[in-house]
Amino acid sequence: MGVEMDALEKLKLLGPATCFEPAEEVGAAGRRSPPPRDDLSGCIYNAVMPGGKRIALLKTLLTSACERDCRYCAFRQERDFRRATFTPDELARLFMQLYQKGVAEGIFLSSGVAGGGPRTEDRLIATAELLRQRYDFRGYIHLKIMPGAEREQVLAAMRLADRVSVNLEAPNTERLARLAPHKVFTEELLQRLRWVEEIRREMPGRWPSSTTQFVVGAVDESDVELLTTTEFLHRQVGLARAYFSGFAPVPGTPLEDHSPTPPLRELRLYQSSFLLRDYGFTVEELPFDVGGYLPLGSDPKLAWARRHLAYAPIELNTADRRDLLRVPGIGPKGAEKLLRERRRGRLRDLADLRKLGIVARRAAPFVLLDGRRPAHQLRLWPISL
Ligand code: SF4
Repeated sequence: MGVEMDALEKLKLLGPATCFEPAEEVGAAGRRSPPPRDDLSGCIYNAVMPGGKRIALLKTLLTSACERDCRYCAFRQERDFRRATFTPDELARLFMQLYQKGVAEGIFLSSGVAGGGPRTEDRLIATAELLRQRYDFRGYIHLKIMPGAEREQVLAAMRLADRVSVNLEAPNTERLARLAPHKVFTEELLQRLRWVEEIRREMPGRWPSSTTQFVVGAVDESDVELLTTTEFLHRQVGLARAYFSGFAPVPGTPLEDHSPTPPLRELRLYQSSFLLRDYGFTVEELPFDVGGYLPLGSDPKLAWARRHLAYAPIELNTADRRDLLRVPGIGPKGAEKLLRERRRGRLRDLADLRKLGIVARRAAPFVLLDGRRPAHQLRLWPISL
């Protein structure tokens, strides 16, 4: 099967358009900025799947036409640029050609809104149906759920996809009104994430994970607002992952003169969201300043430990899992290994921690080993404070 050039040219326009939309974890070959137009490198991402496997993921829009007017977005209706649209048939065929050539192993499929959310969702679902039914594709599919999609469409998308996502864009109604004046936070967006979770709970089976994305730094939202919503989503609607996309001004949009968001803010938000999801922290415990922002200069777990553990170190031979996860350098896997190792004998020095894959130098200022602070802690102490 030869690759059709018309469809390839569209892909070179539509694939790089997803660079503003983080989806799966992206490895070293992943891109954050539009690539040259002469190859597919801006459409194919070296992505880490939820189970840890790496695949070549094709990321594309079905169409860059959009009837909405989100103030930050490159695809907003009024902006003048060259748009492109795939039919479901065209995109499914092109993907299978790339799959058979070994260029792409999975697909992330999003879209501008054209003809309303439900009609757009129909075309996304039709594309995934063609892949699953006509071409018998069993690999990874991530489908976007459009604003205003119907409950039956959410169910249909979940039956076809390995992951679904609804971009909330902002942490609450007020911020969304400033970012995307015609999107309705609860009714049009959040409700779809609730439906995903309802379906997972009501109908036993193997269902896709769900994610969302926030645009960070465009409308003065604070970190505490973003992370309060993130915590709610993890606890109440079973969200697997929140993505934080630092605002980058796009020429020809109302926010073109707004400053870009420093990448370090994204990093601190990700680190904090993992503390909420995997480490048992609550949003109230995170080290926000009086304005509700995280310190950019410090990892939030380290900042918390400096405030709470510096003078009350944790004895690693007796602490429970929850307390172990509070120690910098100890993650969920390290905590499990440490709990297992403790049954075989007492942990006495930092070398015992290193053998377990724990970052001993980060943990050292905040722990006791057999009742004593680790030997080389005094050397690290001034650096850590
Ligand atoms: S609906 Fe999506 S594609 Fe359309 S303007 Fe808003 S963010 Fe951009």
